[in-house]
Amino acid sequence: REPRLVVARAAQIDPGFVAVFVRDISEQERVQQMRQDFIQNTSHELKTPVGAISLLAEALEMAADDPDQVRRFSGRVSAEADRLGQLTGRIMNLSRLQATGEVIDVSTIAVDEVVIRAVEAHQITAAGAEVELVTGGERGHHVRGDARVLVEALSNLVSNAVAYSPAGSRVGIGVRVEDGIVEIAVTDQGIGITEDDQKRIFERFYRADQARSRHTGGTGLGLSIVKHAIQRHGGEVRLWSREGHGSTFTICLPAVDTEESASGKRHAKR
Ligand code: ADP
Repeated sequence: REPRLVVARAAQIDPGFVAVFVRDISEQERVQQMRQDFIQNTSHELKTPVGAISLLAEALEMAADDPDQVRRFSGRVSAEADRLGQLTGRIMNLSRLQATGEVIDVSTIAVDEVVIRAVEAHQITAAGAEVELVTGGERGHHVRGDARVLVEALSNLVSNAVAYSPAGSRVGIGVRVEDGIVEIAVTDQGIGITEDDQKRIFERFYRADQARSRHTGGTGLGLSIVKHAIQRHGGEVRLWSREGHGSTFTICLPAVDTEESASGKRHAKR
């Protein structure tokens, strides 16, 4: 008799509600799965440099009499420490950007400055990966915002573009203004992103399979940081990509009219 009662009750439930409910559960499961993946990936990422540092410390102790060895090992200790710092920095950035009521240190910022600082940060990595960084486009534009956060956001996009590009390819960083919106586009000729992945890569912890198998040491946090940062500035991030051909991530922010950008416009028209 019990089952019949259940059927009778179920029949009264709006099917739309059931559908939403089912979707909610699978959404929860998906988020739960992503969290688990993240914890697993992060612990793995953290364990690797920590393990290396403790091994290197032992090696240093044993090689104390050999200055060459000491130099070599201590160089590696600081490289591993840098990796640790980067990872914890990213995690902290994310929680800072997502915390409500975060105070942003706002001023009028030269876009050229943001581009220079973000590109500078990757010059060495790009050279190592044999990827050429090229900047171009319009100059003299301004936006309102937190310079440090904007540099961090653009820097994340450049870092990804380099990481997911083959040797010998180019990463372009270009600026233009369209209908009062400053567009800072980062274009690569890398592996590209499938249409399915394009819908999800801005989610926290999400990494495309292809990227994971490339062992780039990523966490899947970068793009969600970028998205939050830009949204907090009243802007948005657009993505265009074709698998196997490359991607363009564009940061769009409201342009601010200043004397300099106005004269830049006059200059451009001439
Ligand atoms: P991470 O790079 O640490 O994995 P991100 O949040 O920055 O995390 O990126 C999420 C995923 O988006 C990456 O794992 C990768 O699959 C994909 N992705 C991001 N940028 C690019 C790019 N320029 N080209 C191809 N895939 C990219």
